[in-house]
Amino acid sequence: MALKTIPIEEPEEPPSSCHLTICPPLTSAASPARFPALSRAKSFRNRHFPSSTIDEWNDWRWQLRNRITTVDQLEKIITLTDSERQALQRHDSTLPFAITPYYASLVAKDDCQDPIRRAVVPVINELMVSPGEAHDPLGEDSHTPVPGLVHRYPDRALFLTTDYCSNYCRYCTRSRMVGRSQDTTAIKARWEKAFVYIEQHREIRDVLLSGGDPLTLPDEMLEYLLNRLRGIDHIELIRIGTKVPAVLPQRITGRLTRMLKRYHPLWISIHAMHPAEQTKEMKKACERLADAGIPLGSQTVLLAGINDNVPTMKKLMQGLVRMRVKPYYLYQCDPITGSAHFRTTVAKGLEIYEGLRGHTTGYAVPTYVIDAPGGGGKIPLLPETCLGRDGNDVLLRNYEGNIYRYPDAS
Ligand code: SF4
Repeated sequence: MALKTIPIEEPEEPPSSCHLTICPPLTSAASPARFPALSRAKSFRNRHFPSSTIDEWNDWRWQLRNRITTVDQLEKIITLTDSERQALQRHDSTLPFAITPYYASLVAKDDCQDPIRRAVVPVINELMVSPGEAHDPLGEDSHTPVPGLVHRYPDRALFLTTDYCSNYCRYCTRSRMVGRSQDTTAIKARWEKAFVYIEQHREIRDVLLSGGDPLTLPDEMLEYLLNRLRGIDHIELIRIGTKVPAVLPQRITGRLTRMLKRYHPLWISIHAMHPAEQTKEMKKACERLADAGIPLGSQTVLLAGINDNVPTMKKLMQGLVRMRVKPYYLYQCDPITGSAHFRTTVAKGLEIYEGLRGHTTGYAVPTYVIDAPGGGGKIPLLPETCLGRDGNDVLLRNYEGNIYRYPDAS
């Protein structure tokens, strides 16, 4: 096994200003969104950010400015294991370390198996490279005609808007590229090349904005992006992939949703990992997006010891539906470098899928997929339900394992 290393200091900052836009100062007109004043968040804030106000806590820019990015900061919040400390003390890795104060308030102080903690705090296993792993397992780089644009499927393109995320998930498929430079002039230059490519390819009717996390961009920069894409007449649909409602719900302000609703049809896909993320704050953020008429879907990565059992996954999916989010994809974890401790077997994924299908609301059942290594795209996996034929009858197995016959059309 080869070793890689992780930086603990992260020089980059959210793209707060550029010649495209200026992130507005905190004024009454742009005051932070009101979120439920929960005792959990309050006691965490009093303990770790005693000089901050509730308005600051509810300001997404304050959350980003006060991210936890060093061992010293993290050690004041949780009791680090040797494995976590060693992983954090190494330098020069691909994937940085950062947690918003809000998300840190959800982390268990003394339980290193806590799902939220495992998702964002590195361990030494992350530095081990196992057979079959790769920095770019999906072969995205080979489907990248211009920097920051992946064109793998015929009628849609993936637009990598920014390298910045509020938190860095340790199992991130794009760990090779997130958390890099935040030079907004360079970002804009990259975007322009992508716009030109999209303009020249009329077969692209659907653009998925991803990254990094597009909702960490300032409103004006995001609006510039949406406006440019809406100006391309063959773009029918714009989608945004984000983890912000789960890790930085304060970002979902009235100002943002009023802007977003100007660019319909606009869909949002939320990266959801565990029921412990489903706080009142996340619910509020999803409500605001849904109330702006934005159809919401979710994407979940199947993660060993975090969400790889039926009760947890069912709770997660049912919770999403209650938040008006349709579970969309359940992904087998991509074999990125250093991900062995997160990956489950495919048999486990099928078992979980079987534990959902028929056992809960159909809307709460995502499609279970493997994003094929090497660039094959998403391939759905289904348990065997069509067992073959007996004469003109099709033999079917239902969710309880009972066999039924369907008289096929002749
Ligand atoms: S939010 Fe998405 S892009 Fe950012 S680190 Fe997590 S998985 Fe990767």
